[in-house]
Amino acid sequence: MNVLLIGSGGREHALAWKLAQSPRLDTLYAAPGNPGIAAHATIPALDVADHRAVIDFVRRHQIGLVVIGPEQPLVQGLADNIRAIGVPVFGPGREAAKLEGSKGFTKDLCARVGIPTARYFRVTTRDGALACLDDFGERCVIKADGLAAGKGVVVAMSRAEAEEAVRALFADGPAEAVIEEFLEGEEASLFVLSDGTTIASFGSAQDHKRVGDGDTGPNTGGMGAYSPAAVLTPELEERALGEIVRSTIDALAASGTPYVGVLYAGLMLTADGPKLIEYNVRFGDPECQVLMARFEGDLVETLLAVAEGRLADMPAPAFSDDVALTVVMAAKGYPGTPETGGAIGGIEAAEAGGAVVFQAGTRLDGDALVAAGGRVLAVTATGSDVAEAQRRAYAAVDAVDFPSGFCRRDIGWRAIG
Ligand code: ATP
Repeated sequence: MNVLLIGSGGREHALAWKLAQSPRLDTLYAAPGNPGIAAHATIPALDVADHRAVIDFVRRHQIGLVVIGPEQPLVQGLADNIRAIGVPVFGPGREAAKLEGSKGFTKDLCARVGIPTARYFRVTTRDGALACLDDFGERCVIKADGLAAGKGVVVAMSRAEAEEAVRALFADGPAEAVIEEFLEGEEASLFVLSDGTTIASFGSAQDHKRVGDGDTGPNTGGMGAYSPAAVLTPELEERALGEIVRSTIDALAASGTPYVGVLYAGLMLTADGPKLIEYNVRFGDPECQVLMARFEGDLVETLLAVAEGRLADMPAPAFSDDVALTVVMAAKGYPGTPETGGAIGGIEAAEAGGAVVFQAGTRLDGDALVAAGGRVLAVTATGSDVAEAQRRAYAAVDAVDFPSGFCRRDIGWRAIG
């Protein structure tokens, strides 16, 4: 079977790496791709924002499965447009993708079907927003609606901070936003496959969003992750699947907009049980890297079963008992303006001990691999526990020669203590 993978990040490199291991695969195409992905896939000249061009490509190359990595094309309806020509797609349609595209949509759905989540108000004006701050204690969370790449959220620890965030958000006039109760607890991510009606757990992870050691400094797209998240015990996972994910999938199916793909539930494990912080409608990056490092099944087979509505006939997805841990190496300056163009070497040496170096923001300059974005590499290793996986991942990081890069030195610290 020919498969088309859409995307160009570390997440898609991990997907390409695993898809390429499937005996069912004939040719893997990936667009836009990157030099790491090119080791496993053919990279055609294809503008993925041009849906007609993608459809034409799918027809001409007898693509039997399209896997969409990032949220943007999903929110823009690429999955609907490909499904319309009868080709199976792993990824939700435009309506279901609102679970990530609109925080207001998700909060309203949670309220309608009784999903545990933070108490909230949807607001559109500054005065409306300021007025509802009275309903919360000192702490609350202010979130711009729409895709903001993690930059539209302020966790305000005082009334003054909250007011400042509201003023900044409405500086240019009315805007869509959600203001919600601050939830106390540890965060974990749960990944669930859904073919529209049947769901299957696809593992858990914890990530590190802050740029600095000890979880300090500004938020990023993610500086590292490990899987599984031990804090999400089997009991808590069952609760989250039943009380949160199951209800969401059923509600979307009942609205005639079934969810097909992977649903990523960002959970807060509170004293009252798991509560939903947010949904993402795709794998996380870098969480995908650690999930793929542990997944033991045939990824083409599994994603095709999801896309074709056959999940009920499949065995539960199998994962290794090992822990996987990934360390993101970013270009200096990230999450501000990254220093691009820096040379990258030592990848073979880093992989010699069994680690895998997934590439995100890289490009070829002649024959030389150079940094081309903020997050550049995701160095991934496995071990019998978090400490061993961490040791192996950092041994590989130390073999990478990337003078204009940096990474956190403490990925996994919470699980090690
Ligand atoms: P991303 O997709 O990058 O995770 P986002 O912009 O979709 O970010 P959220 O995930 O909703 O935003 O929030 C970002 C972070 O803010 C969360 O990971 C969590 O740490 C914190 N946060 C969000 N909502 C709450 C809440 N109600 N209580 C406490 N912390 C929260």
